Amino acid sequence: MLEESRPFPLTQGRRMPTCRYCLGTFSRDQFIHGNGPRAQVCIRCAVDMKIATEEEAENFYSEKLRNARLSLVARRYSMFLYIPVLWTLWGMYISSVDPWGLYFLLVLIGLTLFAPAWFFIRSAHFAGNMARLTPEYERPKGH
Ligand SMILES: [Zn+2]
Repeated sequence: MLEESRPFPLTQGRRMPTCRYCLGTFSRDQFIHGNGPRAQVCIRCAVDMKIATEEEAENFYSEKLRNARLSLVARRYSMFLYIPVLWTLWGMYISSVDPWGLYFLLVLIGLTLFAPAWFFIRSAHFAGNMARLTPEYERPKGH
């Protein structure tokens, strides 16, 4: 029902291909190259079925890239961890200190209101860094 009501998945205005084995729709860079048994097979199914090696799918299996991406994502979302921690610290210790409790409260309110805005402001920067950590996909002729 839900599948029927959804439009065809598009990437950059083109139809996204479907994997023959898992029937998942992914963008072209998620597929291995080749004809016959290698045609229309996504990287994950290809590695699972030993059609492709993990070196071929470096984008998904490289340890270095994985760690770099993880740290990028962690840096992006870490403020949503720090702000509740700061609020807890304020509530437990700092709120009772006479002038500093109020100052810290004002700073915390500012930080809390600014965090979502900063999150959206930095989203282009994050997308750029993520693209930099994605190896260039060479599209073979005819694909
Ligand atoms: Zn697949």
